[in-house]
Amino acid sequence: MSKVEFRKVSKRFGNHLVLQSIDLAIDPGEVAVVIGPSGSGKSTMLRCINVLERVSGGDLLVDGLSVLGSSRDIRRIRLEAGMVFQQFNLFPHLTALQNVMFGPIRSRGKNKADAREIAAALLQKVGLGERMNHYPSQLSGGQQQRVAIARSLAVGPKLMLFDEPTSALDPELRQEVLKVMQTLATEGMTMIVVTHEMGFAKRVGSRLLFMDGGQLVHDGKPIELLSDPPSERFRDFLQHVD
Ligand code: ADP
Ligand code: MG
Repeated sequence: MSKVEFRKVSKRFGNHLVLQSIDLAIDPGEVAVVIGPSGSGKSTMLRCINVLERVSGGDLLVDGLSVLGSSRDIRRIRLEAGMVFQQFNLFPHLTALQNVMFGPIRSRGKNKADAREIAAALLQKVGLGERMNHYPSQLSGGQQQRVAIARSLAVGPKLMLFDEPTSALDPELRQEVLKVMQTLATEGMTMIVVTHEMGFAKRVGSRLLFMDGGQLVHDGKPIELLSDPPSERFRDFLQHVD
């Protein structure tokens, strides 16, 4: 069974058709990298998966659960699909450890001791074992984003959605975040990553999806699409990244 399946998904905001009949199936363990011009619908596509936005037409299944299903199904989808945003959105008044403990306590009903254990292990994993008691303001952007990744993982998602996770970072801090994402991919996490880091797309992506004007225009292997761009608009777009 696919991890994520779009069946003729459309999304409109008023009269504006932002996603146009998207068909797409992502299998377990895939790393799909999504690229495309600003406004092409990339964020909306991700937001429909974890039901931050409601689809306007078609159906979308996450691990077999429909985003059109009961509120119980939607709660399960939200727990299964972790999301990391461009802005890290950490709680400023909580330490790194407390930020990561929050989800297991609130969404998984863990007690404090168990949540602390989960959070400490994840902070260790993202390379922040020494910084657990720091507040966000005491961490670099790259470190904050790694806390945000740990925070998403702490709830035990089966799928991770990343929306331009390195765009707000200085170039020298991007690699540390991309490295954590690559490790996750190696461990078999299913991931959908909106990013213009083409090195990451080539190295880690199993699929490359090109969106333009609300349509999924190309879907293929990163190396193949990048070495032989199948359309003029894709070629044009590639000249404007990097
Ligand atoms: P991308 O992430 O590719 O830059 P988005 O998915 O954010 O694109 O946006 C796609 C289009 O949908 C844009 O034209 C944007 O202005 C519009 N849009 C996104 N969110 C909303 C919203 N909540 N209300 C109205 N229009 C929106
Ligand atoms: Mg976006």
